[in-house]
Amino acid sequence: MMKLSHTPVDSIEMFGREVFVKRDDLLHPEFSGNKARKFAYFLEHEFPGVQKVIGYGSAQANSLYSMSALAKLRGWQLDFYVDHIASHIKTQQEGNYARACQNGANIIDLSELDDREGRDTLTYIEERVLPEEKMAVFVPEGGRCGYAEFGVSKLAGEICEWFKEQGLLSLIVFLPSGTGTTALFLNKYFVEQGVTIRVLTCAAVGGDDYLKLQFEELSDDVIYHPEIVVMPKKYHFGKLYREFYEMWQRVCNTGIEFELLYDPLGWLALEHYLNTTADKTPVMYLHQGGLLGNVSMLPRYQRKYGD
Ligand SMILES: *Cc1c(COP(=O)(O)O)cnc(C)c1O
Repeated sequence: MMKLSHTPVDSIEMFGREVFVKRDDLLHPEFSGNKARKFAYFLEHEFPGVQKVIGYGSAQANSLYSMSALAKLRGWQLDFYVDHIASHIKTQQEGNYARACQNGANIIDLSELDDREGRDTLTYIEERVLPEEKMAVFVPEGGRCGYAEFGVSKLAGEICEWFKEQGLLSLIVFLPSGTGTTALFLNKYFVEQGVTIRVLTCAAVGGDDYLKLQFEELSDDVIYHPEIVVMPKKYHFGKLYREFYEMWQRVCNTGIEFELLYDPLGWLALEHYLNTTADKTPVMYLHQGGLLGNVSMLPRYQRKYGD
């Protein structure tokens, strides 16, 4: 059975200090980043009789590509349901959608079905698909489910091991959040192990209150909830901002490429935190992969702000 292996930790200089980078973008050539951690459960367990995995979400999402890679590695069929597909996505030669298609993903566009009857994607799957697909594995959007704890705990274990090897007294692990699943299960592990590692995050999708709600849904025990860095300005997910692009260029100049949806805000939030506190704790930034999406995001930034 294939297992995801340990990823290295690099060190870069940002904001006039050393920042460690956990290179989860290097997890596996075809299956990397935080979606691979969240889906590791499905790679490392036996599923007798299963031949299909069912997922849903955006046609541009990292999770679509990662699920297609998982399905390919397992020899399963992937049925991935999307609300609609923008026409420019279909013609792209690279990126999450194109690569998922190359992996053999069966992407089902609900806007083209006649039996949709106004249902949203999840309702459609629950009412029309799952009753007919008793032997399929169903993965909720973005891997936001208890299964994610399996792989994220392993990641947390690797960070703990590294922390002890380095002889550090304390550590901040920083990562930008979408659903908050990765941040919460990381922090839960550190709290349960009683190690002096704390997780700091920022809300890249839907704002701080949405992220808090996500944490509550995953665990009603607030001692497991990561700390959220509150930004002075509101940013909308998927929108382009000059300061995002500048921060992305700055951090890429260290020699490590980051992605363009979550990481620009992640680095801005880390800078904001370091500027507004006297915290001298060593920092590790978690690189959560997702670089395939840069193929579509980077040209958008270049068109708007130049190179
Ligand atoms: C999905 C994703 C996230 C968000 O992860 P959550 O566990 O939903 O918070 C962050 N960064 C990258 C690159 C991702 O692909």
